[in-house]
Amino acid sequence: MIYLDNASTSFPKCPGVKQILNDYLEKGALNINRSTSASSFDLEEKIFDIRESVKRFFNAPKNSYVVFTRGVTESINLFVNGFLNKNDSVLVSPYEHNAVIRPLTENGININIIDQDKCVDNIKCVIINHASNVTGNVYELGNAKRIAQKLRIPLVLDTAQSAGCVKVDMSAIGADFLAFSAHKGLLGLQGAGGAIITEELAKKIKPLIFGGTGSLSSSYNMPDFLPDKFEAGTLNIPGILSLGEGIKFVENYGIENIHSHKKQLREECIKGLSAISGISVIGDTDKENTGVVSFISSNVDNAVIASLLDNQYGIATRVGLQCAPLAHKTLNTFNIGGTVRVSFSLFNTLSEVEVLLDALTAILKTNQ
Ligand code: PMP
Repeated sequence: MIYLDNASTSFPKCPGVKQILNDYLEKGALNINRSTSASSFDLEEKIFDIRESVKRFFNAPKNSYVVFTRGVTESINLFVNGFLNKNDSVLVSPYEHNAVIRPLTENGININIIDQDKCVDNIKCVIINHASNVTGNVYELGNAKRIAQKLRIPLVLDTAQSAGCVKVDMSAIGADFLAFSAHKGLLGLQGAGGAIITEELAKKIKPLIFGGTGSLSSSYNMPDFLPDKFEAGTLNIPGILSLGEGIKFVENYGIENIHSHKKQLREECIKGLSAISGISVIGDTDKENTGVVSFISSNVDNAVIASLLDNQYGIATRVGLQCAPLAHKTLNTFNIGGTVRVSFSLFNTLSEVEVLLDALTAILKTNQ
């Protein structure tokens, strides 16, 4: 299989993940904060170190906390449920994923598009998808930061697509809440991730999930200190360990080196696609990008292309609206059912791009 669906979930994972999970299973797959064994204390220390590495990796503000969740969706739900109220208004980017749009809609929040809707009153926060999962383009954050600072409202950043692909500097961006996932650019397991929340904002957010924390056990109420306030129940320890390995790998390899390899693959891919008649690449091609190419064909249905790529050539892509109907409306690809999306990882090669381009040329020739 040639795997070109890394914006969905990366594969393969980084080399350290297999080893750390093996060690975990062999040396005792324990829990943290609930045991008095020395091995459990060791594990607690490891998880503590991973929290610190998350803060370092995203250059989190000093007075902020890392909270582990199942990923960006849960982190955004935590923020929306815990901070916003029905009929509040928020600003979002024109490229939001349903991980943001659905929690807002289901909670009765008014959604306004930043840089498009003018003069919206009483805005409670700005939520921005740092990089589009449809085009891979990185969103220009200057205006979002200016508005958030001027109105003294939180800036919330969805880094599902940007983390591990481009540098994300939470302090420089001025974000108050940063949501991240382990399983894409950070090359870890699915179902792990979290949020970095400034202390000031965390005080204003209600927990999403209530239950045991291994702390303050005499109380029927949740602790109000972090991270316990937002971490009821057993954490996804294997997922968090994989996140730690992913961050270590990306830091050691160098995010610039990962970025430049994927940039080369993307440029070759775009060059090849523009030479195939009937194919159009969607989105600006000269912006900072995470290593994604979305395209459509005027001759052959996108879904047919994707399934032939898979069935006849063993090439995995993703076709359709990719859970981002708003982004496709912005890009004018909603009514045609979205795009075929190719998304690269560090582990893809130029020869795989060549195989993809040859396959597409053949598919378009024989299926017009
Ligand atoms: N936001 C964006 C931009 C995404 O691409 C995704 C994953 N497809 C999510 C949010 C949701 O992330 P998770 O699956 O980790 O909840």
